[in-house]
Amino acid sequence: MPGKVYLKRDRKKRLEQGHPWVYKSEIERIEAEETDDLMRIVNHEGYFLAQGFYNPLSQIAARVVDYHEESVIDEEWFERRVQEAWERRKRLLPGVRSCRVVYGEADFLPGLVVDKYENVLVVQILSAGMDRRRVWIFGALRKVFDPTGIYERDDVPVRRLEGLEERSGFIGSEFETTLTIEENSLRIAVDVAEGQKTGYFFDQRENRTRLQPFMIGWGRKRGITVGTGGQAVDATGKPVRNPFWDGAEVLDCFSHTGGFMLHACLYGAKKVTCVDISEKALETARENALNNGFLHRTEFVCANVFDYLRQQVEAGRKWDVVILDPPAFAKNRQALPGAVRGYKEINLQGMKLLRSGGILISASCSYHLSAEKFLTLVQGAAVDAKKVLRLVEFRRAGLDHPVLVGSPETDYLKFGIFEVMERH
Ligand code: SAH
Repeated sequence: MPGKVYLKRDRKKRLEQGHPWVYKSEIERIEAEETDDLMRIVNHEGYFLAQGFYNPLSQIAARVVDYHEESVIDEEWFERRVQEAWERRKRLLPGVRSCRVVYGEADFLPGLVVDKYENVLVVQILSAGMDRRRVWIFGALRKVFDPTGIYERDDVPVRRLEGLEERSGFIGSEFETTLTIEENSLRIAVDVAEGQKTGYFFDQRENRTRLQPFMIGWGRKRGITVGTGGQAVDATGKPVRNPFWDGAEVLDCFSHTGGFMLHACLYGAKKVTCVDISEKALETARENALNNGFLHRTEFVCANVFDYLRQQVEAGRKWDVVILDPPAFAKNRQALPGAVRGYKEINLQGMKLLRSGGILISASCSYHLSAEKFLTLVQGAAVDAKKVLRLVEFRRAGLDHPVLVGSPETDYLKFGIFEVMERH
């Protein structure tokens, strides 16, 4: 007989609304003879709700694995789930070869993340239930993808909350861990062993393409016109030699390996300044600029963005487009007030650096910060900077990061494009 997790009578009916977690505090009692961690999650009357992985060491004491009592959770089950997740990506992103193929709870594989970089898979196992079944997982991944290699990137502190050690390395035979993927026709270098997270951030894929309308049309604002014979001339009548004279001057803050920079150049930017605190990320960004033929339109600054923005405001520097894609400042609810101050600060300074009519592109990947709070703080920064904001677009993570509507944790990325007007 499989064990049973009895839930309290007076808990919020979160599980029934599609949320995949049971917190320790919601459990009435456990009824189990065996040590198997796969249990039946039942309500206070014993009514079956779901099968789930039980982990008494974690605050998230149970994670929903399957809503059907008769399902058998074995290697074939994993293979079916992974196959479904992959089919979904192929349908939504035709021709895609590199993307997030499994996004944990949102793909009904709680605590499992798999990123596909061409024929290489990078795996993160973030729950004890998944860790215990790692052999099945790797078997299922091999069957579905027949990859040239699998790399485990479990060097993440959240594993400790599940009672798991940090680890990383090859699963099976070794292979070259620096590779090149393609995104929106750009060639992007990824280091799956040493790069941040699993090597690259797929969640902004579609958002990066939204830069396009804002990358040209700026030269005319600067008084450059096209004279007879098609030659661009400046306000004094002098010929302009830079073929990208109409392109935007872009400040890409928290650039990492240059995902936004590459798209900005692709769409016609005149110059992109990448700022990141990681020397290694900037090295890869430079390599990416070189490999795509954009090096002469880029510059790279290794700095803390908070300091850099203030220094540039003091120096009176201006840009046409400022991009802010920081790491999650709020990793938990307690950190939220400090994080809000951080987000507000960079948005405020970023706006001050814009020329009149400039574009602010601002993101946040802290799920603790709601979309509403995020918009409120960006607006607050605009008020302080004496600017009027007009929202062009508000988006979330890309199609390979599904959102379970009953689980706000899966809806973490906010991405806004704003036109920034002067108020004085
Ligand atoms: N925009 C990137 C992803 C950004 S990830 C893309 O499209 O791929 C966040 C980046 O912020 C990381 O590269 C990290 O090195 C950098 N970072 C974190 N804190 C920083 C700080 N205070 N100043 C500058 N960079 C920082």
